[in-house]
Amino acid sequence: MKYENNIAFAEKLDAADPLAEYRKKFHIPKTKNGDDCIYLCGNSLGLQPVTVAAALKQELDDWKNLGVEGHFHGKNPWKDYHEFLTQQTAHIVGAKPAEVVVMNNLTVNLHLMMVSFYRPTKARHKILIEGGAFPSDQYAVKSQILFHGFDPATSLVELKTGEDIESLLDREGDSIALILLGGVNYYTGQLFDMEKITGAGHRKGCIVGFDLAHAAGNVLLELHRWGVDFACWCSYKYLNGGPGAVAGCFVHERFANDAALPRFAGWWGHDKASRFRMGPDFRAIPGAEGWQLSNPSILAMAAVKASLDIFYEAKMENLRAKSVLLTGYLEYLFGGRFEIITPRAAAERGCQLSIRMSKDGRKVFDALTAAGVVCDWREPDCIRVAPVPLYNSFMDVYRFAKIFAEAAT
Ligand SMILES: *Cc1c(COP(=O)(O)O)cnc(C)c1O
Repeated sequence: MKYENNIAFAEKLDAADPLAEYRKKFHIPKTKNGDDCIYLCGNSLGLQPVTVAAALKQELDDWKNLGVEGHFHGKNPWKDYHEFLTQQTAHIVGAKPAEVVVMNNLTVNLHLMMVSFYRPTKARHKILIEGGAFPSDQYAVKSQILFHGFDPATSLVELKTGEDIESLLDREGDSIALILLGGVNYYTGQLFDMEKITGAGHRKGCIVGFDLAHAAGNVLLELHRWGVDFACWCSYKYLNGGPGAVAGCFVHERFANDAALPRFAGWWGHDKASRFRMGPDFRAIPGAEGWQLSNPSILAMAAVKASLDIFYEAKMENLRAKSVLLTGYLEYLFGGRFEIITPRAAAERGCQLSIRMSKDGRKVFDALTAAGVVCDWREPDCIRVAPVPLYNSFMDVYRFAKIFAEAAT
């Protein structure tokens, strides 16, 4: 695409955008003057779909009118509610329906997955994560290592920025039990080649899992085909499921009936046909659903479902195509004047660009905020902006770039 730095060109891109209508399906926060904010923070908290209020009202009404009967006779019977999110979730992460489930929150799911998939031995006890991983992932991983009686000082390996994972695996792969990387790094916005990493990890006998918090709903995923062992993600970033939304989890079908895997069990993971017989012996539902513990919060799930329905209609392929154009436009408008730490190649990033501010970063960020831009500041010197294809326009990006250039120069 040959971009141009003028308002008419931004308008032209919006007019030609087949997904432009989707912006109307979201509530865009307003500035004090009542104008739309330039919201570039969907990587942190996605906006509220207009349909969420009615979706919640439906469940409140069923609760009001039916009480406990809502589990069986509600419009969307609560006992089955998580199943109403399965097909959309499978589409978003490139999975078979039985490989995904929406449950709990992200860090909880990481722990549940590690219970099953981190089985350290004396010879193979290490976990490989990316350097600068999100703190919760670091805490979770270190606590799992300690829980098994190992020491993070010797059992935790960090992939340095720019380090070649295959040579690291050649060196240390035989002692690595689990590779657990972010599909897209939250800070730099780097998209990892998950297919390649999965293959390389498996050749060395490692389990390979991904944290897709910044990848789900952002980039194209093919977890099943890539052969990823497990993955977890949250639903409140690109997936717009609301603050603290119920998270997602993928377990490859090769483990669907693997009774040898240890797991923490609860009644919602128990065989559906006999769940309400309340017997003492746990029998897991085949597939990802078998990792559920509790009956889920229906109100929270209703918001996630409303948003996932939009993704399912828009389709990830279309969203990604727009995203590449939209972020490419932002990069073009920066004109090489700022230090972008996100990779330049579209295949190595999602929609986010992270800008390292050599001076006055915080002041620039405050000026952006005052001008009605919502983006975020990460210590020590990084501004992250994420134009998302569902509700951001090319005009958003154009206006942002102008405001940014004024604030930063
Ligand atoms: C956002 C994010 C989290 C947050 O964890 P929660 O359990 O949802 O609070 C964890 N890890 C990564 C990589 C994230 O981006």
